[in-house]
Amino acid sequence: MPLESLTIGLIPADGIGREVIPAARHALEALGSDIPKPEFIDLLAGFEYFTRTGTALPEETVQILRQDCDCALFGSVSSPSRKVVGYSSPIVALRKELDLYANIRPVFSVAPNPGEQPNVDLVVVRENTECLYVKDENLSEGPHGKEARATRLITERASRRIGQTAFELALNRPRKHLTIIHKSNVLSITDGLFRETVRGVPGLPDSNGKYDHVAVMEQLVDSAVYRLFREPQVFDVMVAPNLYGDILSDAAAALVGSLGLIPSVNQGDDFVMGEPVHGSAPDIAGKGIANPLATIRSAALMLRQLGYDTGANRLDKAVNQVIREGQILTPDLGGTSKTQEVIDEVLKKI
Ligand code: ATP
Ligand code: MG
Repeated sequence: MPLESLTIGLIPADGIGREVIPAARHALEALGSDIPKPEFIDLLAGFEYFTRTGTALPEETVQILRQDCDCALFGSVSSPSRKVVGYSSPIVALRKELDLYANIRPVFSVAPNPGEQPNVDLVVVRENTECLYVKDENLSEGPHGKEARATRLITERASRRIGQTAFELALNRPRKHLTIIHKSNVLSITDGLFRETVRGVPGLPDSNGKYDHVAVMEQLVDSAVYRLFREPQVFDVMVAPNLYGDILSDAAAALVGSLGLIPSVNQGDDFVMGEPVHGSAPDIAGKGIANPLATIRSAALMLRQLGYDTGANRLDKAVNQVIREGQILTPDLGGTSKTQEVIDEVLKKI
């Protein structure tokens, strides 16, 4: 049923997240009647918030997202490189709390950038709830000094549903091609389970043979990265456990010019949250030069997931036009423009 208004939670969090989330807000407001009237709720979370309050993700934020929001946009969170007592990443927690089990990251080229590989058009489908990101780590004293261990969790349930998401996506793309990424030659139990489970999706009773037309390939994660740089055009949809998916999508971003272009959505069965793939970029935060396009594209992905294709298409078209014209671009794409100038240009195109 079409909504009268669309309530969108905005969680800028840290660093350039605060500079790029307003871009998406303005872009969504500019869509007029293409989408239900957007209502925004500003929500708190992040490392900076943690340093002030001792919590990274206030309960109230989760509650408002659950009760009042139709969807959300997340900026980026700073991750301290050393362990900070009491801190754990709010985005990892949010994905868990809202059961956003799939992270979908499209990477494609629209115009040649310096050093760009042509003809990239792929989607990384990253499992979002387990693998090494369960963060079950411990440190102990061994006979020869410290010993650190981490537990990696792979379950049949999570592998099956990410597999289903990936097959569904592949089915709806022209090439209908899926590559399963794993390292089961070494991690035969964990990656073996992931691989077998994803492979088994077409044979599930509720698949009804509909995935028979999806061509399935497999690739070990290390050789997949190599291949990604040598011949990225062979990839269509890539499905991977959490950590490999994280790394692969950052690597794929380099093929099309900048992390500042790559959007994602975190999606579950009943909630969707857009989020640029990039982090908080402490090296450029506060300078007003962050590329806002990944976040605007994330808003488009979020709209598409909710069924507002007309609005999503308009956002994507405006972004692609700005990239193609190549006049108003931030420094990561070789330009000299500020974040605000790029936002204004996108708004003009919308
Ligand atoms: P974090 O720990 O928050 O992920 P990081 O140091 O890994 O921080 P990223 O945000 O992942 O930083 O960025 C990696 C590189 O890409 C940095 O040099 C950053 O400046 C650049 N970058 C990332 N996002 C953007 C953007 N939106 N616009 C311009 N440059 C960006
Ligand atoms: Mg990073």
